[in-house]
Amino acid sequence: MFAGPLDESIIMRARKAGLLDLNIHQLRDWTHDRHKTVDDRPFGGGPGMLMKPEPLFEAVESLKRAETKVILLSPGGRKFNQSIARELAAQKNLLLVTGHYEGFDERVRTMLADDELSIGDYVLTNGALPAMVVIDAVTRLLPGVLGDDASSSDESFSAGLLEYPQYTRPAEFHGAKVPDVLLSGNHAEIEKWRREQAKARTKAKRPDLLQ
Ligand code: SAM
Repeated sequence: MFAGPLDESIIMRARKAGLLDLNIHQLRDWTHDRHKTVDDRPFGGGPGMLMKPEPLFEAVESLKRAETKVILLSPGGRKFNQSIARELAAQKNLLLVTGHYEGFDERVRTMLADDELSIGDYVLTNGALPAMVVIDAVTRLLPGVLGDDASSSDESFSAGLLEYPQYTRPAEFHGAKVPDVLLSGNHAEIEKWRREQAKARTKAKRPDLLQ
C-alpha cells in the first residue's frame, strides 16, 4: 500500500534530497515458519486474528536504535494532531508499527511501544493509511521540505487557529471580488485582516480550538 503516496510529489522530493530517510519493512521477514505467519487466534475466543508478538518484537528489536521512538498506530492511541506532528518532526528516528486484522497482542502495546497514535475515531482495515498520514504530516514540517518554510508556520493549527481565507487571480470571479485590503499593498493592514479572519473563522467553524 505504501508505494504511490510516498513516491510522489513533496514526499518523494524530500526523500531524493536526503531530508527524509524512509524505509518500509516487511514483517514476514522476521518469521521463521514456512507460511511466514504473523497472526494467530485470540485467547478467550472472539472474531478475527491478532498480530503475534514474536515477529513484531524481533523486527522492532533489530531495527531500533538508541534514539528510535517506537509508535504503534491504533484506534485507541492519543489522537494525532498538528502539535504531535511537530513533536515527532523533532525526533531523529521514528519506527511506525502498523497493525492488521483485529489489532495487536496486548504485550506489543505495553512492552514495545513508546507511544500509541490514532488518526481519528474510526476504524480502518489496517495501519498503512494511518502511518502514511503521520509520515506526510511530519515530513512537511522538516526543515527544507516545503519550498518556503513559512508555509508550515503560517497555516491551519500552527497558531491554534484555522487559516485565513486566501485568494489568487482573477481579482473578480463569477461576480465575487477579492477583498480590497488584499489588493492594497498595505502589509500591516493585510496582516491585521488575516489575523481577524483567522480568529473569526476558527470561532465559527472550530470553537473547540479556542478553548
Ligand atoms: N480491533 C481494533 C480495535 O477495535 O481497536 C481495530 C483493529 S483495525 C481493524 C486494524 C489495525 O488498523 C489496527 O491495529 C491499527 O494499526 C490500524 N488502525 C485502524 N484504525 C486506525 C486509526 N483510526 N488510527 C490508527 N490506526 C488505525
